[in-house]
Amino acid sequence: MKDRFERNITYLRLSVTELCNLRCRYCMPEEGVCKKKHEDMLREDEMIQAVETAAALGIKKVRITGGEPLVKKNILPICRRVAAVEGIEEVCMTTNGILLPALAKQLREAGVQRINISLDTLDEKKYAQMTRRGELRQALLGLEAALDAGFEKVKVNTVLIGGFNDDEIPALAGLTRKYPIDVRFIELMPMYDSGEFSPEAFLSNDIVLERLPELVPATADGGVAKLYRFPDGKGNVGLISPISAHFCQKCNRLRLTADGKLKPCLHSSGEYPIKGKTMEEMLEQMKRAILEKPECHGALSYGQPSGAKRSMNQIGG
Ligand code: SAM
Ligand code: SF4
Repeated sequence: MKDRFERNITYLRLSVTELCNLRCRYCMPEEGVCKKKHEDMLREDEMIQAVETAAALGIKKVRITGGEPLVKKNILPICRRVAAVEGIEEVCMTTNGILLPALAKQLREAGVQRINISLDTLDEKKYAQMTRRGELRQALLGLEAALDAGFEKVKVNTVLIGGFNDDEIPALAGLTRKYPIDVRFIELMPMYDSGEFSPEAFLSNDIVLERLPELVPATADGGVAKLYRFPDGKGNVGLISPISAHFCQKCNRLRLTADGKLKPCLHSSGEYPIKGKTMEEMLEQMKRAILEKPECHGALSYGQPSGAKRSMNQIGG
């Protein structure tokens, strides 16, 4: 279905939980999220009904996210059922990778085609510091497990943070020489409750091209990412620049939070509840959310935080 600005909305980001086994400083507070009541969260059947409704309106791609989707006990049946919905052509997941060694093969068998793994550093101590509790070794084992499981595409997502990982741009981008993966640098977004970063932490992605002059533009379509590659690379280096070059005019996304709120825009406060609705009511809410999708979010910068009244783990990225 098209919105008022002729954008064809074909992509749903489905957050299956707010909970996480890490506590990344840019995403959620150290004490975690205050656990909401079980009955306030979407049940598996409601998630599937929402995906069916979305498919009836023209959604073709679903990304399963969170919180951390792999801490959800029924993640495999959710993936299997989403993949079986008529009209859904692509099922992807974004994960921190920690639980992939145990689950990668089963996710692939359940119908997940593509997987994105979040990895901001290749330094053990820095990984533990940014995630407040994670072990780099586990995330790297997760990446290898994803490669072994035969996903159609494996990508690494790196949030670029000045003074933290800008010195690792060559090493992180260099993963595309070692593995057949894409590495995408994402500009740090100032979210509600997303830690205290100094202005210097908010870097424009231009720095990646400055540090890596040998990158050449790639021919593949990267969606919201601008793609480059090393002449001898096995995969692409992508730049996702929500701050320095926002991509609202190309935005084809709708989001569904784990507590059942449709969010037509990541950085706007508008939410459309679907919890407890009948199929017809859900359809009406979804149409409303698409038709009322804002043309663009307000400017984002250090000092001008996101208008979403949620932390990133409560939206799904
Ligand atoms: N737990 C999974 C993971 O980390 O991949 C999925 C959920 S996480 C909220 C989705 C994505 O949002 C991750 O790639 C994460 O790095 C990104 N993210 C979270 N907070 C962010 C922020 N403040 N700015 C930019 N990206 C952010
Ligand atoms: Fe958890 Fe992902 Fe947020 Fe990190 S970015 S705290 S892994 S939800």
